[in-house]
Amino acid sequence: MSDAAISIRGLSKVYKGGKQALFDVDLDIPRGQIFGLLGPNGAGKSTTINILSGMVNKTAGHVDIWGFDIDKDPRNAKASIGIVPQEIVFDPFFTPRETLENQAGFYGVPKHKRLTEELLRAVHLLDKADAYARSLSGGMKRRLLVAKAMVHSPPVLILDEPTAGVDVELRQQLWEYVRELNDGGVTVVLTTHYLEEAEELCDRIAIINHGRVIANQPTRELVGMAQEKAVSVTVDRDLVTPPEAVCFDKVELKGSRTLVITYAKDKVNAGEVLAAVQREGLGIVDVSTQEADLEDVFLNLTRQNNAASTVLGAGDGRL
Ligand code: ADP
Ligand code: MG
Repeated sequence: MSDAAISIRGLSKVYKGGKQALFDVDLDIPRGQIFGLLGPNGAGKSTTINILSGMVNKTAGHVDIWGFDIDKDPRNAKASIGIVPQEIVFDPFFTPRETLENQAGFYGVPKHKRLTEELLRAVHLLDKADAYARSLSGGMKRRLLVAKAMVHSPPVLILDEPTAGVDVELRQQLWEYVRELNDGGVTVVLTTHYLEEAEELCDRIAIINHGRVIANQPTRELVGMAQEKAVSVTVDRDLVTPPEAVCFDKVELKGSRTLVITYAKDKVNAGEVLAAVQREGLGIVDVSTQEADLEDVFLNLTRQNNAASTVLGAGDGRL
């Protein structure tokens, strides 16, 4: 039995027609965290989530949810997660109250243990409890889906692109509720292609691209990579080895005259870096800087894709 909330090994998916959406994915989602699965459209996020929920059959690999193998123990595996799918699907003729009651019935939650009122209140839909689902706005429907995913009090809640069609205010309410659930011990997994969202909410972020996991780190570390800035300095003579200085995180020689120096922008500025180069007796002919914010980290990782795992594996955080 795995300690992880979700443990994925060697997961592959080839859809009918031959499209391969996942390639040998390994991923552990720790218990108790808010975990972000971040990636551009078509990366394989929903495929992964839909395999967890049993909506899509995997081609190869093993998945444990809360220690239950989805093949050997699908009942317990399913009981351990609540899923908010990317696509909103409802029977338009049920009210929010009925929707939650039906779902609770489906999971065999006895009447006296149902949380219908509590859930409706938590997602700010108590005043819409008896309205038809078709009369709800997009944001309300999504919040109802979150409540629906929680009727059986699963230890893991998965939200696939939860803020699609949700306005800013409601998004904040949704996040408040997600944080509350997490404070109460629920492990939360969300997929998104918005970096800011992942950065704001998640303890840990995995980045998936073209069906491969290309990064999986605490959010702090990923953001830390965004604190690195690189300056490219062309000097006035040929070098055999790059000069060293305490204010450099890393220095590389490109060709014989260009230095690519990485430094932490919260500790030193470009002027100090250049002064350090000059102290080595080198004249500066040309300078260009590049700054990495989380967006760049993401773009770099997704662009390099396969190479990126090596970069990250090396642990030097340079992009
Ligand atoms: P994401 O959720 O990250 O946007 P998806 O998991 O939905 O990505 O899709 C991953 C890839 O698999 C995409 O290329 C998509 O077109 C393809 N795909 C998704 N669902 C199907 C399907 N039912 N049949 C064939 N290809 C699919
Ligand atoms: Mg998707």
